[in-house]
Amino acid sequence: MAEAGRADLHLHTRLSDGWPTPAEVVERAAELGLDVIAITDHDTIEGALEARAYVGRRRTPKVIIGEEVSSRDGHIVGLFLEKGVRPGLSAQATVRAIHNQGGLAIAVHPFWDPAKPGRVGTAHGVGWLAAELEFDAIEVENSTPGFYLYNQMAHRLAFDSGRPQVGGSDAHILSAIGKAHTVFAGRTALALERALEAGKTRAARERYEAQALLEYAAWGWDFRRKRRLAQATGQ
Ligand SMILES: [Zn+2]
Ligand SMILES: [Zn+2]
Repeated sequence: MAEAGRADLHLHTRLSDGWPTPAEVVERAAELGLDVIAITDHDTIEGALEARAYVGRRRTPKVIIGEEVSSRDGHIVGLFLEKGVRPGLSAQATVRAIHNQGGLAIAVHPFWDPAKPGRVGTAHGVGWLAAELEFDAIEVENSTPGFYLYNQMAHRLAFDSGRPQVGGSDAHILSAIGKAHTVFAGRTALALERALEAGKTRAARERYEAQALLEYAAWGWDFRRKRRLAQATGQ
């Protein structure tokens, strides 16, 4: 690859459960020299729209409008979206809804907490559906601490099913941005889209500094506290 661009295709902001604002994510990505970022908040494209507006005419990073859709069968990231996708549909209907508006569908962290027979509650990864449905790529590097084994399984699935592979940090804090990313030929969102369609992307990962791991632990603590509060008040 002559011109190797780097893209982080899985980022959260304050518009869902992330800590940073969209503007802070853009600034951090620019500092890191990421060429392309996709803001993929849970069930909303507002964070992505804000980031796109903030970037304005700046050269980098390019911002892809994305969303991490809570399908009935697990999380699915839609990229290059025009509008939000309704949560709660089957994985198949979600992938179709993304394709119908010209977007690309990514099976993110497919092996993290997939649905199990007889279990009620929401699944996080779509599991083996990642190979059965018309996904455009599989996220094989997700830099959430502790995801090593899930990533290994996702690598294997992408390899065996011949699906394009991507990396996304799934960052909920600033210091996680870029820790997993996608390498592609070119520098623009269009070049990335072409690389995905040609199956010519590569996933990469970087180590965390100790400070970043501590920060992530604090985020996890805060996340669980908010979830307990929401459950207690019946929201
Ligand atoms: Zn997720
Ligand atoms: Zn996520």
